Amino acid sequence: METRDRTPDQLVDLGENVHRLIKYEGELDQGFAAEVARLAHGEKFYTCIQCGTCSATCPVSHYMDFTPRRIIAMVRAGFREEVLRSFTIWLCASCYSCTADCPREIKITDVMYALKQIAIKEGIYPKRFPIPVMAQEFYKIVKKKGRNNEGKLMMNLALKTNPFSLLRYAKVGLKLFRTGRVTLREESIRNHGEIQTLLGAVDRAREAAK
Ligand code: SF4
Ligand code: SF4
Repeated sequence: METRDRTPDQLVDLGENVHRLIKYEGELDQGFAAEVARLAHGEKFYTCIQCGTCSATCPVSHYMDFTPRRIIAMVRAGFREEVLRSFTIWLCASCYSCTADCPREIKITDVMYALKQIAIKEGIYPKRFPIPVMAQEFYKIVKKKGRNNEGKLMMNLALKTNPFSLLRYAKVGLKLFRTGRVTLREESIRNHGEIQTLLGAVDRAREAAK
C-alpha cells in the first residue's frame, strides 16, 4: 500500500506533509498492554499465538479496519493511538464468539470493552461516529433515571453526530411518536438515587484499581 493510501492514523506525522510508515520502538506505549490487561481482568493476551481463530469466527471482522487478531497484537506491542482510534473496537458486537473459540482462552471481548472504556475516557474515537456517542448518552440517561428513554437517546445521538439525519428519519420518527412506540417523556425507577450511588461506587472502584 502506498503512503498516500494510508489513513492519517496509520502514519507517523513528521510535519511539513512528511510521513513515515513505520513506528520506532521508542514511539510505542510500553505501558499500554498492562493498562488494558488490568481493565480486561487478566493478562492472558500475552499468551496469544496469533492463530487468527478470533478473526475467522468474528461475524463483523470484514467491516473492521483491524481484525481482532491484529488488535491483540497491536495492544501487546503498544500501538495505543492506532488501536484507540480504530473503528474495530466500536464495531465489535460483543457476541463473545472469539472468546468462546480462542484456543488460549483469551477474553477478547473484554479487551474490546477495556479499549472502549479508555477511548471514551480520553475522548479518542472516530469523530461523529455514532456508537461511542450512543454509549455515553445511554449511560447518562440510565444514570439519571434508572431507565433508558429511546426517544431522548435517538434525539441526542442525532444532534451530536448528524443533525440532518433528523430530517431523513422525520416521517418514521413521527409515526413512532404518534403510536406511542417512542416518547420523550422520561420515566424513572423508584429510588433512582440508588443507581447513581451504585454507578458512582463502580467509577470510584475503577479509579482506585489503577
Ligand atoms: S484466537 Fe486467541 S490465540 Fe488466536 S489470534 Fe485470536 S486471541 Fe490470539
Ligand atoms: S465479540 Fe466482538 S470481536 Fe469478538 S467475535 Fe464478536 S464481534 Fe468479533
